[in-house]
Amino acid sequence: MKLNTPIKFTLFLGLILCLHIILYLVISNYLNIYISATLLFTLLMTSIFFTLKYQFYEKIKIIYKNIYKFKGTSNINDFNLENADKEAEDWANQKEEELLIMQKNENYRREFIGNVSHELKTPIFNIQGYVQTLIDGGIEDEKVNMKYLKRANISVDRMINIVEDLEVISRLETDNNELDFENFNIINQIEEVLDQLELKSNKMNISLKLTNESSSEIVYADKNKIQQVFMNLISNSIKYGKDGGTTKVRLFDMSDKILIEVADDGIGISENALSRLFERFYRVDKNRSREIGGTGLGLAIVKHIIEGHQQTINVRSTVNVGSTFSFILEKENE
Ligand code: ADP
Repeated sequence: MKLNTPIKFTLFLGLILCLHIILYLVISNYLNIYISATLLFTLLMTSIFFTLKYQFYEKIKIIYKNIYKFKGTSNINDFNLENADKEAEDWANQKEEELLIMQKNENYRREFIGNVSHELKTPIFNIQGYVQTLIDGGIEDEKVNMKYLKRANISVDRMINIVEDLEVISRLETDNNELDFENFNIINQIEEVLDQLELKSNKMNISLKLTNESSSEIVYADKNKIQQVFMNLISNSIKYGKDGGTTKVRLFDMSDKILIEVADDGIGISENALSRLFERFYRVDKNRSREIGGTGLGLAIVKHIIEGHQQTINVRSTVNVGSTFSFILEKENE
């Protein structure tokens, strides 16, 4: 019989007790009454001890051991029936939380893959359409052949942009956001980025300005990643700027830190879009972003990098007035 219910266990203990009473009645005829009572009491205690030990304590200990094995330690010297239920409950809660996180990650992953394929589908179908038209005779038509090839080329560029941004995100995640901290001159770095974007800003007739109100020019951060942050923020300020507008990069002193702002007087962002701005593939105006080669990943990358520096990226914006993105970096580490 398996002692797996309270009733069975009570019956079993009752049976043991009866056996001991019968035994006592039998041996008390032969031995002194005190000796037989002591003998039977010891025997009874021993039977109860082993029953409890092997039916309950050892089984619970195995469960406890398994919990500790999952927790990554085999030390169960503190095993105590009194706190076993609490330990088991804590463990179950922890597992439930882990499961919820895993489910959330799984949903996120599924959504992400859906977004990626959706984003790539449009340029691929566009290219397919142009190539098919050229194959079907368009190649001979002087009026359309060059136009379709150029359009196909724009779609290829768009795919390259998406893949490059995905690569950056994947690298940020696989390196576990490991940063390569060093002291570097941030003014030089911003000037470098402004130089690289000069052509783009000239096309939009946007002037780029840099002012430093901080006492220092040296920051302690991951140089390459911060370069990417400036590249994304400043190129956005041009992409979503207005003809004849200005982008200002300003640095302010904050004792041992520097506050950096990238401000434009462009189209601005509506209040309800601000909360979703840093999500992957989120764009306020999908068509405008796509037309100008946006991937919807730039700000997600910026957020990833700034949070990797244990800081937050902030934005304030007013439609038709402009947007200001800001973040903080540590000053030179001596
Ligand atoms: P994208 O590649 O589309 O520019 P981002 O992640 O860089 O993707 O930006 C997400 C969206 O945020 C953009 O599509 C745009 O709608 C909005 N946005 C970003 N920067 C600005 C800005 N400086 N002014 C106005 N809107 C902006």
